Amino acid sequence: CPEDGPDDACLMRNAGVAMQHVKSGGRNAFEFYSEKINTVSLERLLLETQLRRAIGRDELVLHYQPKVDLRSGRIIGAEALLRWQHPEHGLVPPGRFIPLAEESGLIVEIGEWVIDRACAQMAQWRAQQGEAVRVAVNVSRHGIVSGSLLRTTRDALLRHRIAPRQLVIELTESMLMDRVEVIAARLNLLRALGVILSIDDFGTGYSSMSYLKQFPVQELKIDRSFITGTPQDRTDTAIVRALVVLGHSLGMRVVAEGVETEAQRTALQALHCDSYQGFLCSPALPPQAFIARLQEINAAIVKTPAVPARAE
Ligand code: C2E
Ligand code: MG
Ligand code: MG
Repeated sequence: CPEDGPDDACLMRNAGVAMQHVKSGGRNAFEFYSEKINTVSLERLLLETQLRRAIGRDELVLHYQPKVDLRSGRIIGAEALLRWQHPEHGLVPPGRFIPLAEESGLIVEIGEWVIDRACAQMAQWRAQQGEAVRVAVNVSRHGIVSGSLLRTTRDALLRHRIAPRQLVIELTESMLMDRVEVIAARLNLLRALGVILSIDDFGTGYSSMSYLKQFPVQELKIDRSFITGTPQDRTDTAIVRALVVLGHSLGMRVVAEGVETEAQRTALQALHCDSYQGFLCSPALPPQAFIARLQEINAAIVKTPAVPARAE
C-alpha cells in the first residue's frame, strides 16, 4: 500500500486477482498483483459474460470448410467450424473463445448447440438443395466424458432425421489420453449409433499409437504441420507417406489438413491420401456460400466411378 491499492478492501481484491491469475496459469506458482493482470482478468470476465449471452442471442455461427476427394476432385463433405459473430469485435475465431468456454464449463452448452446446428443444416441442405452433405464437427473432451455428447448426438440425429453415417465426430489425440477405459466405453456407444469417428490433428499430440487400437476410429486427419513441408521437405513427406500407409493398413480413410498449394495436392495424390481440406480449395464458408461452391465444383466434374468406400 499504496502501490497496489489505497485501502484494505482494494488490496484484498487485488490479491485475489493475482491468485486467480496463478490458478488459471496452472497453479503451483506465485504472482504479484499488477495493473496488467487486472486488465487481463477483467477482459476474460467480460468475454465470459458475453459468451454466456452469445448462445441465447444467436451470435454463434457455423462455417463450413469443404473436404475434397483427391481422386475425383469432388467436394465430398465439410468440417463445421465455429465462429462468434461478436457485436463489437466482428467474427471471432474459435481459438479465442473455446479455451475460455472449456474453463468456464460453457463448452457443454456450446457443444450441444454445435451438434444440433450441424444436423439442422444437413437437413436444410437435403430439403432445399437435394444434397446429402457429410459434416464433421469438433467436440470437447468434456462432452465425451460427461455423456452429454452421446445424448445430444442421438437426439439431434433423430430430430433432424439424419443418417448417422453422415455425421463425423472429430477428436484430438490429447482428448483420448487419460481415463482410457471411460473414453473407450463412451466412444463405443457413439460408434454404435453409426456415426463416423475421426482423429484430428494427427501426429501433434502424444502420438501414442495405442489408442488407434483401443478406440473405434474410422478416419485419420494428418495435421497441417506435416503438410506445410510436403513435398519439398523430405522428412515431412516421409511422415505423411507413413501416416497414409498406417491409416490405410488399419482400414481408415486418411485426410490431409491445411493444403494450400497445387504441389501439396499433387504430392498427396501420389501418396494415395484419400481427401484434403485447405485454403487451396476454400476456407470455411457461411452455409449458403458453401453449398453454392459444392454445387459449382461438383457440377463441373464429370462423374468418375465411385471411390471404393473405406471403413464406413
Ligand atoms: P481444427 O479442427 O484442426 O480445424 C482446422 C483449422 O485450420 C481451422 O481453424 C481452419 O480454418 C484452419 N485451416 C483450414 N485450412 C487451412 C489452410 O489451408 N491453411 C491454414 N493456415 N489454416 C487452415 P479455425 O476455424 O480457427 O479452428 C481452430 C480450431 O478450433 C479447430 O481446429 C478446432 O480444434 C477448434 N474448433 C473449431 N470449431 C469448434 C467447435 O465447434 N467445437 C470445438 N470444441 N472446437 C472447435
Ligand atoms: Mg477439426
Ligand atoms: Mg485439425
